Order: sequence, then structure tokens, then C-alpha cells
Amino acid sequence: MGEPVAVVVGGASGIGAAIATAFENDGWRVVVADLPATDVTDEDSVAALLDGVLASHGRLDCVVNSAGVSTLGQITELAVDEWRRVVDVCLTGAFIVMKHAGQRLSAGGSIISLSSLNGRQPGGGLAPYCASKAGLSMLTEVGALELGPRGIRVNAIAPGLVVTPLTQPAMEIPGIEADYLENTPLGRSGTPEEIAEAAVYLAKAQWVTGEVLDINGGAHLM
Ligand code: NAD
Repeated sequence: MGEPVAVVVGGASGIGAAIATAFENDGWRVVVADLPATDVTDEDSVAALLDGVLASHGRLDCVVNSAGVSTLGQITELAVDEWRRVVDVCLTGAFIVMKHAGQRLSAGGSIISLSSLNGRQPGGGLAPYCASKAGLSMLTEVGALELGPRGIRVNAIAPGLVVTPLTQPAMEIPGIEADYLENTPLGRSGTPEEIAEAAVYLAKAQWVTGEVLDINGGAHLM
């Protein structure tokens, strides 16, 4: 059967790209998927991706969903369409990936989603993102309950600040980064590689399921 096969959705940039590299370095065959070919908000596109991987590689062992978008805006100012855009990718997209991965994985396989510190700590101006990530953390727990009896594990990683194309716009707001680092015991932001190490761990940790792993320099303690 050869090496295990991982699919990394949202794998073209940032944390997802680092996860793809870390899996490759750990001996996995990796399929990277991203826009425009694969859109997590489109059920048919996710199903076609996973069917294609099974057809060409003959097995599927781990599906990582690192797709994400955000927006900045106060609740009283935010357009409903903008709310829907973020929730559609960050929460409904996670559901769609989990649904179709859960249908196709065999016992021993696992699903890993990217939640966020913002799923447990509110961030002003980030309502749809925070609400989606809180929902995604709970979705992970429900997924673990439902898929556990079939031997499929469902976990998430909740990173703190990692500077990537997603977070770069917020970094331009004066004081934001300094404020974050002041509220982080280890006093620095993380790297995509530090998040990727956790993904490889979760993919292999056969008795870990329903876990939302905080990786944030201790910021969740503050
Ligand atoms: P990024 O912008 O570098 O990468 C996100 C990727 O998702 C991009 O390649 C983008 O094309 C893809 N994507 C967006 N919409 C998509 C869609 N509809 N279908 C498929 N792919 C889509 O961002 P990142 O910082 O690497 O974020 C990765 C994940 O980690 C996201 O879920 C994000 O919410 C989460 N996260 C990031 C941070 C951080 O500080 N960077 C912190 C906590 C959680």
C-alpha cells in the first residue's frame, strides 16, 4: 500500500503550506488542494477532490483543512454578506470537508481542522471569524463522537498569532501585534512550522480524538 496519504485543503499558503511540507518530511504522500480548483464551500468540489485522491493513490489516511478567511469590522457596521462569506468558509467549509472526509476515510484515518485562539478568546472586529472558530471547535468534538466508533479520529489545532497572508492586514493596525505579544507568556508569535509539527503529531496519535490543541505561546492562559 506504500506511504500514508494526506490531503491538505487550503495548502497553498501559510500554515497549510507548512503542514504539507511537514507531512512530506515525515514520509507521507501529500496532495495539496486550494482555490480555485477546490473550494471548501462547494460540496461537489470537495467530494471530487477526495474521490480523485482515492482513485489516483488508492488510499486516504488524513484530511487536513487549513482553508480560512477573515474580515475586520464592528458588528454594527458589518454587512451580512461579509458575515456569511467568513462563516461559509470557516465553519460551513469545515463541515463540508469533515462530512466528505468522514464518508471516505477508513479506520485509522483522521481529520484535522484549523480552529483558532479566537475560538475561545473574543477579538474585537472579528465577530464572524471568532464565532466560526468557536463553532468549529465544537464541530470537532461532535465529529469525534460520531466518527470514533468507525475508528476515525477528529481533531483540531487552535493557533495563536502566526504572521501569514491571513493576518498580515491586521498587523498593519498600530499596536495590535504589541498588544498580542504582551498577553502571551512566551512573548512571541508562532511560526507556520510550529503549527505543522502539531498536525503531524495529531495525524499519528492513535488514541487522541476530539482534541482542540492550543498552540499559542500560552496566550490562552491570559
Ligand atoms: P493563509 O491565508 O496563508 O492560508 C489560507 C488558505 O486558505 C489560502 O491558501 C486560501 O487560498 C485558502 N482558502 C481560502 N478560502 C478557501 C476556500 N473557499 N476553499 C479552499 N481554500 C480556501 O492563512 P493561514 O494563516 O495559513 O490560515 C490557515 C488556517 O489557520 C485558517 O483556517 C486560519 O483561520 C487558521 N488560523 C490562522 C492563524 C494565524 O495567526 N495565521 C491563527 C489561528 C488560526
